[in-house]
Amino acid sequence: MDTYTVLEWSDRYLMPTYRRQPVAFARGRGARLWDLDGREYLDFVAGIAVTSLGHAHPAWVRAVTEQVARYVHVSNLYHIPEQARAAKLLVERSGLGRAFFCNSGAEANEAAIKLARKWAKRHRGPQAYEIVVAHNSFHGRTLATVAATGNPRYQQGFEPLPQGFRFVPFNDLEAAERAVGPATCAVLMEPVQGEGGVVPADPDYLRGLERLCRAQGVLFVLDEVQTGVGRTGRWFAYQHFGVQPDVVTLAKGLGGGVPVGAVLAREEVACAFEPGDHGSTFGGNALAAAATCAVLETLEAEGLVEHARQMGERLAGHLRQLASRHPTVAEVRGMGLLVAVDVRVEAARVVDACRERGLLVNAVRPHTIRLAPPLVVSPEEVDRAVEILGAALDAVAAVPEAR
Ligand SMILES: *Cc1c(COP(=O)(O)O)cnc(C)c1O
Repeated sequence: MDTYTVLEWSDRYLMPTYRRQPVAFARGRGARLWDLDGREYLDFVAGIAVTSLGHAHPAWVRAVTEQVARYVHVSNLYHIPEQARAAKLLVERSGLGRAFFCNSGAEANEAAIKLARKWAKRHRGPQAYEIVVAHNSFHGRTLATVAATGNPRYQQGFEPLPQGFRFVPFNDLEAAERAVGPATCAVLMEPVQGEGGVVPADPDYLRGLERLCRAQGVLFVLDEVQTGVGRTGRWFAYQHFGVQPDVVTLAKGLGGGVPVGAVLAREEVACAFEPGDHGSTFGGNALAAAATCAVLETLEAEGLVEHARQMGERLAGHLRQLASRHPTVAEVRGMGLLVAVDVRVEAARVVDACRERGLLVNAVRPHTIRLAPPLVVSPEEVDRAVEILGAALDAVAAVPEAR
């Protein structure tokens, strides 16, 4: 198919839920993508922090194709070797007790919400069903996770929303202390608010929340759907903060592009779920679990978590240099290879100007660009991406905003 036909059919036959950029890809390798017309791009989106090993990583391709050739799906009526292995790998890296597999970040958060409510019914009483969440958060697009999301833009038009979420300002410990009480079962936070513009939690805030949860006997739940699995330069972002959550949700980078979500929980919390309480037809099937094992084992074997930390430092360093000489850059924030650049022009124009110059980035907010390359990105690719971004900013700044 040619680009014109893809765009035409997309426009005519798909529900209009996305504002897509006018490009379609034929193939990828590492941090590079080629569109249908053969143009090459540096991929600093990584499918929204998903393709952690880059495109077509040989070890991942081998693991997935070998699994596909054996079998893909048998359901959770049976034991699945790769799922058991993926769970063991996650438990060993997280300090948590057990895993549940599903298919997306929203589903992982749904499962965590159900788990917290079920756990609290037994340990805190029937009134304890509230979950304290933050303004400017993002937890997914299902009804419950959209209700937990601290941004009205995702909620409007879908009311009535499920009850039981109490909002507090992010990074305000006193507000959280006021919100947690006998009605609370859990606090649910992102260690770095990803969709909210890559806003890291203050270390004291996260530690304070952990202490508050322990003191009040409520669950400390971290949404690491975007930050988990090496993205921030540690296996999990909470490891930067020296906290240990009771429950963690994962998805984006976990399967390297195959849809996988997971909830990890401390043994005693995990066992609030009894057989029949929760489930998923597809969750943790052999294909998804083989992809997950390949991601976790390859990150380990190739030292990619540490590599991500180093590349993140290099990227943020270059971007700060760019900021110091470019008046359109207002701020650079981030953790590892999850980085945001605030710009004083429309972020969408910068995204377009980057793409026209062979760099893919995306706008998470009207004035914020997110850079989240695959963890295999090379130093040369990091340097090149910042060069292109600089040129794109020059071009956008040269033409006034009128559009
Ligand atoms: C992307 C994201 C989700 C939702 O994940 P889906 O796979 O799109 O359902 C939830 N939480 C966070 C922090 C995310 O970044």
